[in-house]
Amino acid sequence: MTLKPQPLLGKYINELVALLKPLYPMAKRWLHRFNGGVYPAYMKNLSADKPIHEMIIPPKLIIPLQQQIGQSAELLVEIGEQVKKNQLIANSSKDAGKALVVPIHAPTSGVIREISEQTLPHPSGLKDICIVLEPDGKDESIQNVLGVDGKAPQSPQALKDIILQAGIIGMGGAGFPTYAKIPNEKNRVEMVLINGAECEPFITCDDLLMQNEATSIIEGAVITAQALGAPKIVCGIEANKQKALEAMRHAAKLAEQNDHCDIPIEIIEVETVYPMGGQEQLIYELTGYEVPHDKHAIQVDLLMMNVATYAAIYRAVHYGEPLTCRLVTITGLELNESFNIRAMIGTPFDTLIGAAKPKRQIDFSAIMGGPMMGFRVASNQVPVLKTTNCVLVNRPEPEKLQMPCIRCGECMDACPINLLPQQMYWHAQAQEFNKVEKLNVFNCIECGCCSYVCPSNIPLVQYYRHAKSEIRQLNQEAAAAEVAKQRHEFRLERLEREKQEREARLKAKKAAVKQQLQKQNDADKAEQESAGNTPASAAAKARAAAAKAAAAKRKQTSTEATSDTDQTHDKAIPAARRRAIEAAKKASAKAAAKNASDSTTTKQSSATDEQADKKNQAKQAAMAAAKKAAAKRAEQKKSADDNNLAHDYGTANNSASTEAKTKPDARQQAIEKARQKAREMAAKKAAEKNSTPKEADDND
Ligand code: SF4
Ligand code: SF4
Repeated sequence: MTLKPQPLLGKYINELVALLKPLYPMAKRWLHRFNGGVYPAYMKNLSADKPIHEMIIPPKLIIPLQQQIGQSAELLVEIGEQVKKNQLIANSSKDAGKALVVPIHAPTSGVIREISEQTLPHPSGLKDICIVLEPDGKDESIQNVLGVDGKAPQSPQALKDIILQAGIIGMGGAGFPTYAKIPNEKNRVEMVLINGAECEPFITCDDLLMQNEATSIIEGAVITAQALGAPKIVCGIEANKQKALEAMRHAAKLAEQNDHCDIPIEIIEVETVYPMGGQEQLIYELTGYEVPHDKHAIQVDLLMMNVATYAAIYRAVHYGEPLTCRLVTITGLELNESFNIRAMIGTPFDTLIGAAKPKRQIDFSAIMGGPMMGFRVASNQVPVLKTTNCVLVNRPEPEKLQMPCIRCGECMDACPINLLPQQMYWHAQAQEFNKVEKLNVFNCIECGCCSYVCPSNIPLVQYYRHAKSEIRQLNQEAAAAEVAKQRHEFRLERLEREKQEREARLKAKKAAVKQQLQKQNDADKAEQESAGNTPASAAAKARAAAAKAAAAKRKQTSTEATSDTDQTHDKAIPAARRRAIEAAKKASAKAAAKNASDSTTTKQSSATDEQADKKNQAKQAAMAAAKKAAAKRAEQKKSADDNNLAHDYGTANNSASTEAKTKPDARQQAIEKARQKAREMAAKKAAEKNSTPKEADDND
């Protein structure tokens, strides 16, 4: 890579330009490398020679939740909450990488008074959510709120983490989150570039920063280069900032003499031409690399940042300080004392304007930025942001009479991006926005060079801004229409798919039922075939079934008969038992009567003993008789079982039923017989009782 520190045409070019300058001022364009550019009145002397104004604590700070390209930070405080300087009051989301969100810290100590929508310093003049902090004047701060150890990070990720936590964004005006600009890979970046070309008229904050904090800027660049493994640092400063050049060269020399810095640092003086401070223009000027318009500098392995951004990185890494204030130029033709001030983020413009002692009452709104790229704010109550480099207090100029384009081509010569400004203007005027887009209007950096040189006073940049917003709107509408169309098509597809699926399911179900029926039929057929399902066999089957049914009926009848027989037996068994008992009693009574007659003459005690013995003998005899009767019953039961068996086989139905009918008569007779005997025995005993009462009692 070859640097371009000298004019293209050597040392004689300056003499040639000096000769041509009265005739054609734009001859100075030969002194720099990029195309076009203009030489406005810089007016930097209003503030460049003044010392930095001491910090002001305003009555209130208005801190927007979004100050950068990306989305708003997440609120962390409530109304009435007391906060300290450097305290985190709004955080980046978890998905900070996608949303490009950076945290916000309190610029001073105080109380949160409001969380409401406030007008922002934006060309649209729209409102957004802001934290309104009422300072308590103590400016109590939290030291090293980022918790750093002061050592330089050794990897890109470590550096990015600190930069993100500190809430640092590009302070040159673009407002791109710095952590998102730094690559993740080490040794990828070929050169770390410092942008010290403050090309906008009136603005001197970078100049003053370089004059007063050159060491911080160089150290910040060294920290960045070391973390990324970049082999070289190059800084470009315009020739109209000689004090800054000296300070930066001195700081670079000191850094190179230190042991911790082994990276060469080059400070290059570049031509004073607007827009030298544009990133692409300065890169081209310093390196000869032309960054394609559809790419960022980091995509060609170059990292360029503003001097204020490097200073903020240094303070974050070494002291753990977040970005809560920045150097701002307060200047303008309407102010008596222009100055640069380290202003707290959120300081209202009118507080700063008042400190600069306006020449008369300010009944117009100020410009944020310079006269070329700046814009007039909606109100002077809007706050300083992290991207605010200048508050320009110039009375609005009367509108110049706009004339038709004379096709002089001056705008094309002045354009640093090599666009075709007049063609874009024609199509924009004709509302042919698609043609404006094809002319790469989105590559336009809105530098204002074309408007500046236009002899017809055509506000060309306004046409491009309008065209850009219209194209964005149309693209959004087209995108929304495309989404709606896709959704409609997806819906139709879904309905058709569901219909087809429904039909397929129905078809499958029908097929399954059919298959099941087929299987059933096949199985029945197979069964019939295996069983020889002929008319003759069917008749045989029917006969077998009839026989089976008859057998079952017979069995049931037999079971009922057996049940009757069993009941009869149950009745017969107690009768036999009773008979046995009666017989036993009879025998006992006989024995007792015999014993009584034999022992009428013996003593009462011996008679009693004898009678007891006989009683025992009678009992034993009764038991023997009972056993006999039980054996007989068992035999009878066996006989009955045999009869049942005979019933089952249908061989003794008649005889069994006859026996069952005759048996109760015989039993009845036996019972009657036994009862008769018992009555006789009772009569006999009664007679004996009358003669021997004691003996009768014993028998009971
Ligand atoms: S500078 Fe103005 S007049 Fe000349 S071509 Fe461009 S737009 Fe037309
Ligand atoms: S405003 Fe756009 S078109 Fe005009 S000179 Fe600048 S870059 Fe070119």
